[in-house]
Amino acid sequence: MTAITASEQNLVEDAWRGKYPYQVRVAWDELHRLTSSRFPRIETNETLSRSEFEEIAKALREEGDRLILPEWGSRAAAYADDTITEPDNAQITAARKELKTALDSEPPESIPVDYNTVEQIARERAFREAIRDAYDERCAVCGTRRETPDGRPEVEASHIRPKSEDGPDDLRNGIALCKLHHWAFDNGWFTITDDYRISVTDSSSRDGYTEFASLDGKRIELPDDHRMRPAVKYLNWNT
Ligand SMILES: [Zn+2]
Repeated sequence: MTAITASEQNLVEDAWRGKYPYQVRVAWDELHRLTSSRFPRIETNETLSRSEFEEIAKALREEGDRLILPEWGSRAAAYADDTITEPDNAQITAARKELKTALDSEPPESIPVDYNTVEQIARERAFREAIRDAYDERCAVCGTRRETPDGRPEVEASHIRPKSEDGPDDLRNGIALCKLHHWAFDNGWFTITDDYRISVTDSSSRDGYTEFASLDGKRIELPDDHRMRPAVKYLNWNT
């Protein structure tokens, strides 16, 4: 029996207790973004066949390190079948407080990360929850708010400067995006300017261009709390 599991607590409890011999550990947002169209059964945590598991593992590998490394640690850890302790709610709340307190300081360049610690896992989850809340679970680009029939938000907490490029889990390095715009942002369809406007990449021969081009110059939706707005240093990280 094989399983792919993600980081949402209700999906992982059995798997984390060693019920399955094979696991890929990757943030739920990322796993879902990559696989939901092809493997809808992941969402219900049903057992996958060996070949399905291998197909998903292959897809994750093709995305490179950014899928596995940034969220759950080393690749070895991602494929290991030992148990990583899940953070409890108190640890997530504490991590969220720390992220809030960090807003009193200048946005950091990067934060040293030990991916396999429970504190780091708590911090990642706290980051995702805080970003989703700050944006009222709406996409900053299109304003869409969707949830699953059982009430889980679709919107994802994206790192502006990616973790694979040393982007920190600072809340000013986060932005809430729907799956489409998360994909488009991560893949360079648009950037966000210092004055929070969308700048679309001029790639008119590519499919999808017309749809994205209509966003050019539009101002993104921002959190009410000014301190949570994206920091210019992250928006400009690669310029
Ligand atoms: Zn959107």
